[in-house]
Amino acid sequence: MLDKILISACFLGAKVRYNGEIKPLAHLLVAQWRDEGRLIAVCPEVEGGLSVPRAPAELNKKTRKVINNVHVDVTKEFTKGALKALALCTKYNIQFALLKESSPSCGSSLIYDGSFSENKISGEGITTSLLRKNNIQVFSENNIQQLAELLDNINKSASLSHDKSA
Ligand code: SF4
Repeated sequence: MLDKILISACFLGAKVRYNGEIKPLAHLLVAQWRDEGRLIAVCPEVEGGLSVPRAPAELNKKTRKVINNVHVDVTKEFTKGALKALALCTKYNIQFALLKESSPSCGSSLIYDGSFSENKISGEGITTSLLRKNNIQVFSENNIQQLAELLDNINKSASLSHDKSA
């Protein structure tokens, strides 16, 4: 059976983004994986109980607190959403995730710096951090090809060992 992949729901065009706009990731690999039935979608922020639309929030890299632009601490909701994403990975035996870069939940190498000034710094979102602590490899739209190569290699070794044992 092909490995399942956890994917940010907004990549599939779900109306879950903070501003209520849809922004699907138009990529052949995403279309292929969707057609193969491999994608398990999640929006950690909505799963954590936040609404659409919602006030934009940013993660403070040092304190790991998530504060929105009207000064409300939404760390609890973000954490709840991350736990739900992890529960999906456990349920479907998922080891790979494709998540939206720069999000305070889903970012995997960049996040906004917490000052609401459009400035990005290196860092990872709350969900990415929890998934990685649980040995799930997280990729973004910027390194989707790397994920595809990894999955191909896994499939090749699986069919090789199947051939040997046949
Ligand atoms: Fe997309 Fe993740 Fe933000 Fe939800 S939390 S809108 S899935 S980037």
